[in-house]
Order: sequence, then structure tokens, then C-alpha cells
Amino acid sequence: MSVTVRFVGSGDSFGSGGRFQTCLLVDGPGCRFAIDFGTSSLIALAQQGIEHNSIDAIVLSHLHGDHCGGVPFLLIDAMLGARRTRPLTIAGPRDLRARMDAIREALFPGSHVMAPRFPLHCIEMEPGRPHAVLDLVLTPESARHTRETNPTALRVEVGDRVVTYTGDTEWTEDVARAARGADLLIAECYFYDKPVKWHLNYPDVVAHAGRVGAKRLVLTHMSRDMLARAASVPEECAHDGLVITL
Ligand SMILES: [Zn+2]
Ligand SMILES: [Zn+2]
Repeated sequence: MSVTVRFVGSGDSFGSGGRFQTCLLVDGPGCRFAIDFGTSSLIALAQQGIEHNSIDAIVLSHLHGDHCGGVPFLLIDAMLGARRTRPLTIAGPRDLRARMDAIREALFPGSHVMAPRFPLHCIEMEPGRPHAVLDLVLTPESARHTRETNPTALRVEVGDRVVTYTGDTEWTEDVARAARGADLLIAECYFYDKPVKWHLNYPDVVAHAGRVGAKRLVLTHMSRDMLARAASVPEECAHDGLVITL
């Protein structure tokens, strides 16, 4: 059975190119899940005609707003307007629960009194080992990015396919392990040639991604600088709404 990956949002943190923040919607044999859910992701889903109640799980790479800030908006709409009844699982790094509660209360003061009527499961994953979540196997690997975000790269086994998303990170052995032999490697590619701490730029991706045996590579999370070069590089570059079938 095929797996589809939709780039609901392929942008960076700052709206470069008018793109939405990171959100990858994956349909597998047993569930529909999102990898990352940035602050703008609820809008991006609505614009692409996707009902957020249809999502069974959200998997988060790290705790920066452009990757997780949309979760409180989804939760509150799920409790109010969208009247969700089906279970929702949120899996992510250490401190996920406390950090999500804090973000929600900061954005919607007083919302702590609201309790979902649907089952809500929060799973804090330890890097370096596999976690069975619904019918998926999620293996987060430690990433090199802002330490306070508990950053990870994500290896996701969905059906008989492997999707790896680097998250925001420099290239490391742990990231390479997450990407080894993946059917799809989604790599952030922040700048074209400017070296930047805690992120991948184009030469990094080209130098390393070819060595891990991934079957397909797609670049995402591009700054204005990288977007200006996207049409001239041979690698496939994501855009909002891109759908890939594996
Ligand atoms: Zn980011
Ligand atoms: Zn980040």
C-alpha cells in the first residue's frame, strides 16, 4: 500500500516566499499523521481543504514555534468549533507536555480550564530508540540545534516505507543514522552557501545526503536566500501543497 506525503507547509520560521511553516501530512496504511505543526499550520490545512479532525497523530521534531506553535490552535479548535471526538496522539521530545501547556496558556490565557472531550495522548520520546505509536515506529535521533528546543531528527516507519525528516539541525552521525536507506529524506536547506550554526545549508545537504542511501531527497525550510536558488539546483525542492507518493 502506498504512502503519501504532503508538504502542507514548506517554509522557514519567517514567512520566506509566502510559505507556511513546517507541516508534513502523511497518509499511511493505518493512520494519517502530521510531522511538525507550525504556528501557521491550521491555516495551511484549511487552505488546502484538509479537515484537521482527520489527523490521528502529530509528531514533533523540536520545540520551536515554526514546528510546534500550531498545536494549541488545533487543540482549542478541536475542543470548540471542530468538536473533535476521535483520539489524538501528540508525540515529541522531552518536556513536550509542559511546553505545550505553557505555549497554550501564553497564547490563550485562561484556556487551562478547558479539557478535551476526546482522548488526548502525549508521548515524550527518548532519542536513539524506536517508539511504537499507533501503527508507526518513530525513532527520534538527537539533533544539533538550539538546545532548549530538545531537537531531534525523525525516522518514521510507516507501512513498509521509511520517511526521514532532519528537523532543524547541523549534519551529525545521529542525523545520518536517522536517514540511512530512507525511501524519502526530507532535509532542511536553510541557506545556499552561507554557513549557519545549528542548520543545514545547501553544500551540507549535497555533501552528506548522497552518502546515506536515501532513495529520494526533497529540500525544505528554505530561507529567501535559498529560495532564490531553488530553481537552479538539481535537487527536488518542496513547495506548499507538493504531494509525493512512495
Ligand atoms: Zn525551523
Ligand atoms: Zn528550529
